[in-house]
Order: sequence, then C-alpha cells, then structure tokens
Amino acid sequence: MSACASCSHPHAVAARRAASQRTRRPACRPMVAAQAHQTGQPATGGTPPPPAAAAAAADRASRRAALVALVAGVAALRTGPAAANAKAPREGEIRFTDAEWRQRLTPDSYAVLRRAATEQRGSSPLNYEKRAGTFCCAGCGSPVFPSEAKFESGTGWPSFYDVLPDAVTLTSDSSIPFMPRTEVRCRRCQGHLGHVFPDGPAPTGLRYCMNGLALYFEPQQA
Ligand SMILES: [Zn+2]
Repeated sequence: MSACASCSHPHAVAARRAASQRTRRPACRPMVAAQAHQTGQPATGGTPPPPAAAAAAADRASRRAALVALVAGVAALRTGPAAANAKAPREGEIRFTDAEWRQRLTPDSYAVLRRAATEQRGSSPLNYEKRAGTFCCAGCGSPVFPSEAKFESGTGWPSFYDVLPDAVTLTSDSSIPFMPRTEVRCRRCQGHLGHVFPDGPAPTGLRYCMNGLALYFEPQQA
C-alpha cells in the first residue's frame, strides 16, 4: 500500500524506515541501549541457538565494558586515584557556604550546581549557541569547554566531545540503582555540571552531557 514518494519500490520505504531508526539519538540519561539492541533474527532452519550467539553476546558485553573502562580511565587520568564519589562534599578550591551559594546563584542554577538537579531537556538557550568562544562554569567562572568541542547530540542538552585541560573532575555517580554514571564537576568549585557517557563522536568517543544552567558562554574576543 505505502509507496515511496520518489519511486514505486516498497523496499525503498523499508530502507527509509530503517534509516530513521538508525538516527535515533541517545538521551542524557543512564544508557540502556545495550539491552535494547537485540537483533531478534531467528536462526536459520529452526536450529537451536548456535554457540556464535553466545560469543556475539559476550562480544557486546566486552565492547560495553571497554567503553565504561574508557570513561573510568579518563576519570583516573583527570582526577587521580583519589576520585571521590558523587556524595563527596562539593568543596573545591573556590568555596562558599551553602547560604552564600544560594545568594550568588539563581534558584535554578543553585539546584543544578549545588544539588545535582537536571534541567528540563531542550530548555537551555546554550543548545543553540554556535559562536566561537568558551563555555564557563556558572558557579565560579572557570573556562570548561571550548566551542570547538560542542556538537549537536540531539539530546536536548548542550553536548561536548572534549573538555579543557584540568577543568573538571569526574566522579562515580550511583544515585540511580543499577545505573552507574560518571558525574562531571567543575574542578575549582565542584559544582555539578552534568554527566559524561562513552557514546560521543570522534576523536574522543565521549559525550559530555551538560546542564546549560551550570554554564554561561563567553564569546571569543574579535
Ligand atoms: Zn566552577
């Protein structure tokens, strides 16, 4: 019944549908993609699942473990062996009392930076920022991301594939049971910026999924 607008071959419609499924983007949430990518292809001839199926599953698990190890490795590289977990106090070299933070920040930025809240997806004007410049911590003003590392992830949160040297610390975040994540904090004030996932583009393969409320943009001087 359905026909391609440009040709009459039904397979073209199926190809387009498959292509649209491939373009589905990840969200700034715990990654569950690994368990959703079952092939669902029956074995030919109705034979029992071949040993290759188990090998393929092991291979998928191995690849996922390697990606997780990558983020863990980055954490070790940038923070040293004493990386704290997400419940560690947010006390960096720039410190204020909780009352002072409340006074310095807007209520929404306070909720993100000091209480690790997540802003509503698609709500940040920084999603649309395309100019050359630097994205800085809204808590302390430290430069965090170069505009060159920004990319369109399709998640609704400002996303970057790399971070400026020594700008952040990475901590393990187990606030959601069975969904370990890696939290990204501003190194200097320990404000919560977002999370990093091992599904970003080249050259790093990382996706820093940030809250726009935790950042502000400093355009490059002409
Ligand atoms: Zn900061």
